[in-house]
Amino acid sequence: MADPAECSIKVVCRFRPLNKSEVARGDKYIPKFQGEDCVHIAGKPYYFDRVFQSNTTQVQFYNAVAQKIVKDVLGGYNGTIFAYGQTSSGKTHTMEGKLHDGDMMGIIPRIVGDIFNYIYSMDENLEFHIKVGHPFHQELITKTNLSVHEDKNRVPYVKGCTERFVCSPDEVMDAIDEGKNNRSVAVTNMNEHSSRSHSIFQINIKQEHTQTEQKLTSKLYLVDLAGSEKVGKTGAEGTVLDEAKMINKSLSSLGNVISALAEGSNYVPYRDSKMTRILQDSLGGNCRTTMVICCSPSSFNDAETRSTLLFGQRAK
Ligand code: ADP
Ligand code: MG
Repeated sequence: MADPAECSIKVVCRFRPLNKSEVARGDKYIPKFQGEDCVHIAGKPYYFDRVFQSNTTQVQFYNAVAQKIVKDVLGGYNGTIFAYGQTSSGKTHTMEGKLHDGDMMGIIPRIVGDIFNYIYSMDENLEFHIKVGHPFHQELITKTNLSVHEDKNRVPYVKGCTERFVCSPDEVMDAIDEGKNNRSVAVTNMNEHSSRSHSIFQINIKQEHTQTEQKLTSKLYLVDLAGSEKVGKTGAEGTVLDEAKMINKSLSSLGNVISALAEGSNYVPYRDSKMTRILQDSLGGNCRTTMVICCSPSSFNDAETRSTLLFGQRAK
């Protein structure tokens, strides 16, 4: 186990560009960037570890934010990367992007590529076992009988979540594609492709030296959180409304856990939501945690953008 003092939580912020319909509507571009770590909205400054402007490319973002975590995870640390923000703010673009497009791919395919490049570069006496968890979703955990259990070492796991061993980046991409096809979609007015659910992708790595028998295990969670927008704006009703309330509750308990960790508080309320229980061993002592705060730059989304930025500030 690593020294808990080494535990680091980073919060970075990324703005997407205005999209065509926002430009057509005459929306204003509201963020004003200052240096590498500050953005102003209506004159109020918000500070982060890094702030990324709308023209940041996928590879620039990966190199600045995720590459180091891959090195740490291969060195035995656990890690989690979250994308937080309202629907259509760029979370999926950041985490997945276009999975099969070299320039437009997001963090997940780049991480997978780097892990396998590392494996291919190591000598034959080092054996790797890579296991990925099917992306599963908040509503699945609650509505079906997938439930959170703890193993004999008190590590939480999800019963019924399919896991598989993988031997190449392509096999990982297949697992992600399958997960997406299985995903149930709650259609909202905001964005018909949006699904109000968290998508959690897990990569487990076990390294074993065949001669010294030295072992190292680690895991990385890559989380595309459900849209953080207030329910009213999406015109949700009935089941979708209940789901939205549950999602908002899980996002706020995630915020509470992250801010307790950032403050070095003795009590961290991991047990307040299923998601934080699942992620517990990748958010505490032996961990690297990065929260990506995704924002729309449009004057139309002004209020949501401020509340998103405030959520990110709480974790600092
Ligand atoms: P979310 O997952 O938060 O709902 P998406 O990632 O699906 O949002 O982004 C919404 C749209 O904006 C998509 O068409 C996506 O390709 C585009 N987009 C998001 N972020 C960027 C960016 N940084 N640069 C260019 N296009 C982006
Ligand atoms: Mg998305």
